[in-house]
Amino acid sequence: LVASVPVKKILKILQETYPDARCALNYTTPFELLIATMLSAQSTDRQVNEITRELFKVYNTPEDFAALTPEELAPYIKACGLFKNKSRHIIATARKLVTDYGGKVPDSLEELIKLPGVGRKTANVVLSNAFSQPAIAVDTHVFRVANRLGLAASDKVEETEMQLRKIIPRNHWSQAHHWLIFHGRQVCHARRPGCPICPLQSYCHYKKID
Ligand code: SF4
Repeated sequence: LVASVPVKKILKILQETYPDARCALNYTTPFELLIATMLSAQSTDRQVNEITRELFKVYNTPEDFAALTPEELAPYIKACGLFKNKSRHIIATARKLVTDYGGKVPDSLEELIKLPGVGRKTANVVLSNAFSQPAIAVDTHVFRVANRLGLAASDKVEETEMQLRKIIPRNHWSQAHHWLIFHGRQVCHARRPGCPICPLQSYCHYKKID
């Protein structure tokens, strides 16, 4: 961790730059958000929204999905990456929700990560967006941007999450997740970060300006 990193300034600039940053997945219930987030691994949010627009018209409760076989679900989601695995995990998760949780998505990290195919990132997305709990989901953008800015200093996702939880005030956790994603998508790209136009360049040790 860069000891002198001006966290407050960085967060303020992110907030001013991305005032509308929010979850880009479409959903109407915690369960729909859980499924959309499970589908989003190695897929774009736009792809997932296209899939769920049709999928949720036909199936949108744990009971609906629990009654399917992976082969029945696969055709609906095959436009996204890893669809065979996702199909198996989604159905197994739906069945566990029905048998162990009365068909409700649990609202704690410990319970969410017990669901098949649900890791900390998915659990944190559900907690912060569907249950309004402070949480920082570390996806590929959050991981890259946070480590470039010195908000974290780790090559591990979970450690990055813990460092961000320490350095960012709790009331900003959920928004900071969205700000870092927006910044990663719009400016701080993986291969060619837009350092010359970056509003954070004075505070970034990683910046590359020719
Ligand atoms: S200066 Fe460059 S590396 Fe640093 S946050 Fe901005 S775009 Fe990313």
